[in-house]
Amino acid sequence: MGRIHVLPEHVANKIAAGEVVERPASVLKELLENSLDAGATRIRVQVEAGGKKLIQVTDNGCGMLRDDALLAFERHATSKINDAEDLLNIHTLGFRGEALPSIASVSRTLLETRDPDEASGTVVEIAGGKILRVEEAGLPAGTSLAVRDLFFNTPARKKFLKAESTELSHLASLVTHYALAHPEKHFELHSATDAMLIAAPVASHSDRIYQIFGRETLDQLVPLAATMKLDRVGIPEPPPWRRGEDYQPPVPGDIRLHGFISKPELQKLNRNSIFVFVNGRLIRDKLVQHALTEGYRNILPPTVFPVVLLFIELPNEEVDANVHPSKTEVRFRQQSLVHDFVRDSVRAALMKARPVPQFTREITAQPTASQSLSPGAAMMASQSAGPDFALRPPAQPPINERLQFAGEPIPLEGNMTISGFGPVPAPTMALPVNGHADACGNILADEPQAVVDQLALASLKPLGQVRDSFILAVNPDGLWIIDQHVAHERVLFEKILRERAQNSPGHDGQRLLMPLIVELTPGQQAVFSEISEELERNGFEVELFGTRTIAVKTAPGGVGGSEVEKMLLELLDQFQREEQALNLEKIRARIAASIACHAAIKINMPLEQNKMEWLLKELAKTECPMSCPHGRPVVLRYSVKEIQKAFKRI
Ligand code: ADP
Ligand code: MG
Repeated sequence: MGRIHVLPEHVANKIAAGEVVERPASVLKELLENSLDAGATRIRVQVEAGGKKLIQVTDNGCGMLRDDALLAFERHATSKINDAEDLLNIHTLGFRGEALPSIASVSRTLLETRDPDEASGTVVEIAGGKILRVEEAGLPAGTSLAVRDLFFNTPARKKFLKAESTELSHLASLVTHYALAHPEKHFELHSATDAMLIAAPVASHSDRIYQIFGRETLDQLVPLAATMKLDRVGIPEPPPWRRGEDYQPPVPGDIRLHGFISKPELQKLNRNSIFVFVNGRLIRDKLVQHALTEGYRNILPPTVFPVVLLFIELPNEEVDANVHPSKTEVRFRQQSLVHDFVRDSVRAALMKARPVPQFTREITAQPTASQSLSPGAAMMASQSAGPDFALRPPAQPPINERLQFAGEPIPLEGNMTISGFGPVPAPTMALPVNGHADACGNILADEPQAVVDQLALASLKPLGQVRDSFILAVNPDGLWIIDQHVAHERVLFEKILRERAQNSPGHDGQRLLMPLIVELTPGQQAVFSEISEELERNGFEVELFGTRTIAVKTAPGGVGGSEVEKMLLELLDQFQREEQALNLEKIRARIAASIACHAAIKINMPLEQNKMEWLLKELAKTECPMSCPHGRPVVLRYSVKEIQKAFKRI
């Protein structure tokens, strides 16, 4: 008895139908999903000419019986759902029975398949939707589907295919996504000349990330894990008179998030490194994207994007996968709840994993022999024979393993949410009051914690500057170094945003001695007209001067005359690169970041004591004192404990 059947018309009509075959990657997505639905544990992909010539997926899944092998190419033939109710509870990646017929109608397709329980398998050859051959054959168990000459019979669509390299990069990223989602399975991708990816089964998602991207990427990610109980409210139930004796109300279940998100130092220029899976399905969902952006708000500048590998798991009734032809979008039943949960969990994970960048220190049996660990170490050691510690370069991940993958799930009970914006609670700070005394009566601080609050910063006393660029300061926690430029940048950025949110003029303008004439390209001109109003509110006074020339008369205070043009062009170019529509919020944040950057105190600038004090006080008042709007660290700390260890006092 076959497993595949043609759906009755009334069910088929409920399906959000649509053309699924747009390009090689959409073919590959359907084939990969079929293999995963078939329970395969080994999936091998072979492509040629960016998939235009060949896309072949071979799996060791459940295979198909002879009759099913033919039926699979009928429209709306599927083994995955039976009736319209099943559409409310989809637990497979496919459910429409449309992919194979659509693919077979625009290519030369060869299906080779054998159910492991059958002695022989079936070969089906189809070209442009016409069956050419059906044969019994000796075949390995599982399924191989080869799709050749995509769009050979629809030249108009063939023309729309991009360069081979572009299509190939889409294919590769697709296999990568699915390999990341299923670390327990074996994935391979081969082009005509190369083995592009071979990922043997591994134990965990982090092992898979390591396997595919290497240690460096893994070190720049922080784990995210959170669970929340869902409310039963709104789950559809039959009316009371239709409920039997043994009726059980639906169990609301949990929403669970897990995965990895990047630290602010890791920045990407587009969203291509954001992978979101909902119940194992790869999606590109605006709601989730928005929640991610919100989670990173003011931690990453709006022009760049994080690396995200996020798995959202929730009961099947809570998501509708039947809303988009290529199944890349879903509709959550409780949209704002999912949105806020993602946003808050991302925020909390970032806050939790956010160490004050520390001095790294190397302890060995012979301290004098130890020089390196981080690139800075060698330099420090050569300058002094003193303690063997080194300042960690900002982009380097902390060497402290404890901070890496110690992330435990953040249990969120009930509908509780975490507010990521407020000050992080202080009790974990390594203040002497929490410490204990050693035999000499010295106070030993506990292990420094990753979280630092504004209080700690507020107690800082500046001592002086290193090279007129970095402020040295102390408080009971230890010794701190503050990058004066990025600290001021953070202060200004938040101030401007606050003022703009209250609609008061963001930044006072400063009249330039002579109007500054700036030539714009057509693209820049287009962006300029879109953002000119907001520029004006930020202290710019600009007049059109000819078609593509503008005259800047006033610029935001603090931005030096020589920098105005650079800043304006930088801004216009940034906006031009943006693929998404601009909104006021984005425009505001970017203008604020840009003004902050150009108006902030520079490095190599001597500061008087009171100016340093003022800056540290202001920094302490900011929401995110630890990183500048571009994600660079603002402060480094050398804790009391590290100092004591370095002097061999503990
Ligand atoms: P859907 O996945 O929506 O059911 P498809 O057109 O993609 O529709 O596939 C039709 C049917 O063919 C599937 O329901 C499944 O029974 C069968 N099938 C497709 N690919 C495979 C495979 N790799 N292994 C086993 N069965 C498959
Ligand atoms: Mg399918």
